[in-house]
This record gives sequence, structure tokens and C-alpha cells, in this order.
Amino acid sequence: MNARILDGNALSAQMRGQFTERAAALTAHGITPGLAVILVGEDPASAVYVRNKVAACEKTGIRSIFEKYQATLSEAVLLERIAALNNDPAVHGILVQMPLPKHINPHRVIEAISTRKDVDGYSVLSAGELLTGLSGFRPCTPWGCMKLIESAGCDLRGKHAVVIGRSNTVGKPMALLLLQANATVTVCHSATPDLAVHTRQADVIVAAVGRRNTLTADMVKPGAIVIDVGMNRNDEGKLCGDVDFVGVSKVAGAITPVPGGVGPMTITMLLANTLESAEKTVKSKE
Ligand code: NAP
Repeated sequence: MNARILDGNALSAQMRGQFTERAAALTAHGITPGLAVILVGEDPASAVYVRNKVAACEKTGIRSIFEKYQATLSEAVLLERIAALNNDPAVHGILVQMPLPKHINPHRVIEAISTRKDVDGYSVLSAGELLTGLSGFRPCTPWGCMKLIESAGCDLRGKHAVVIGRSNTVGKPMALLLLQANATVTVCHSATPDLAVHTRQADVIVAAVGRRNTLTADMVKPGAIVIDVGMNRNDEGKLCGDVDFVGVSKVAGAITPVPGGVGPMTITMLLANTLESAEKTVKSKE
């Protein structure tokens, strides 16, 4: 079998086309959607992510407010900046790029962002909204994975989904979104003794580990949908995921590539959350 490629760039282009129209409609109402992006320090990977997010905003008609600080920035000053952005009506979303320098407590920073502007969906309140099924900002990466699964034409009701990884930003919210879509969900992690026992039963596998070749062809049921969140480097220094793409493509029914799968969808869902936030401000004025 040769798996269908779930192209995150193509799906993003389609969705972002609609976003451009939504952004233009907001601007016509006198509200230009705005996303503040804060980068602290010199981490090269973070700089690339931030650049891509800012560029995506600009292409869609979302104003980006990019603030870059040296790694020596104090936590107190960062919290002050966030407080100012919380109170700025031109800002509808605030994103602080992780990881932060070690002297800054990431939890304090995330919780300082107003829930109305938590477009990354990382705060305890946003996590609680997801857990309890209330509306709220969904974390961008798992939400993007859901859109990719949807694009494969998969109705998750009654399907068995296996999530590999249980981080607060990817694995756990992913499991909750799948559960909400009526899948039966298994969550695996580093203490799972035999990963393949679980993955071989799965109709849908989401790999979010950060270790290449975690999922190989022998671990996949024929026809399964495989979503690869991982971002790693191979021996040649090229970007690769957690999945052995060449091998698994021969067994799976559908698969996301790395790059060009989950990565662009993460940014797309960030734009979606920012627009939703701006649209809420229009509605609140009506
Ligand atoms: P993380 O916080 O390091 O979590 C990794 C998870 O994988 C942990 O839950 C860990 O288990 C589990 N794990 C580690 N080794 C394992 C093994 N051998 N078998 C099963 N599970 C194992 O990472 P993350 O933030 O969730 O990110 C995961 C990957 O996705 C990374 O490569 C990251 O760069 C990538 N990522 C990509 C995007 C994107 O937009 N494409 C966005 C976010 C993250 P324990 O909990 O037991 O330690």
C-alpha cells in the first residue's frame, strides 16, 4: 500500500485563504486583528518559528507585533510587557515563544497572558476548558492534527487512536481532542513497556515524542492514519519526524510528511485562534 500524503501546506493554503477574507471583514469593521509575538533569547530554532509565524500573519492580513528581547531579560520586565499587551485593544492574541531562558518561569509567564488572548491555548484555564468540553482556545498543534485527520475523511467515532507522548502542549490535549471526537484513546509514553502492542491496534496514530524512527512499519496496522508531530534532525542534519516515513508509507492509509505536515498546520491554527479572538471583540461591541 502507498499511503495518501496528508499535505499540511496544501490544507493550510486552503484554510488561510478563508482567513484572509475573515481578516478583511474585521478590518472593514475597523478592527485589524493583531497578534503579539514575544521572543526572548537567541535560540535559532525559536527564531525560525517566530519568523514563520510573523510572516504567516502578514500574508493573512493579521497585524503582528514582534518583540524580541535579550536572554538576560528579567521575568518581572517580561510580565510587565505581557500586562501592557493584555490591556492593548489592538492586540487580540499574545504568544510567548518557548523555551524561555532558565531564569524565567514559563508557567508564570503563560498564566500572565489574559485568557481572552491565550491563542496558544497553553494556560491552565484553556486546558480546563478543553478538558471539560467548554469552548476556548485549543492548543494549535493538536488542533492542527485534528484538521489533518479530518482531511483524510476519517470519522473518529468508534476508532482506536493511539497518542505517543503526553506533554501538556501536544500529547495530553491531543488525547482530549480525539476523545471529544468519540475515538477510543490510548496514551503511550516513555514508561510504556511495549509501544508496538498498542500502535498495531490503532486506526489513528499520533506520534509526538521528539525521537526519530520511534514508529516503524512493523508497528502500524495496514490502512492506519499516521500523524507525525516530531521535529528531529537526521544524520545529514535534515528535518525529520518521529516516524520512519518511507517504511510506514508502505503500510499506512494516510500519513503526514515532515516537513510539510503538522508544522504549517500549527501556524494555521494560531491564525485561526487570533481571528476568533478578534471576532469576539466585534461581537462583544454589537
Ligand atoms: P516533550 O515535552 O519532550 O514530550 C515528549 C513525550 O514523548 C513525553 O511524554 C515522553 O514521555 C514521550 N516519550 C519519550 N520517549 C518515548 C518513547 N521511547 N516511547 C514513548 N513515548 C516516549 O515533547 P513535545 O513538546 O510534546 O514535542 C514532541 C515532538 O513534537 C518534538 O519533536 C517537538 O519538536 C515536536 N513538536 C512539533 C510541533 C510542530 O508544530 N510540528 C509542535 C510542538 C512540538 P514521558 O512523559 O514519560 O517523558
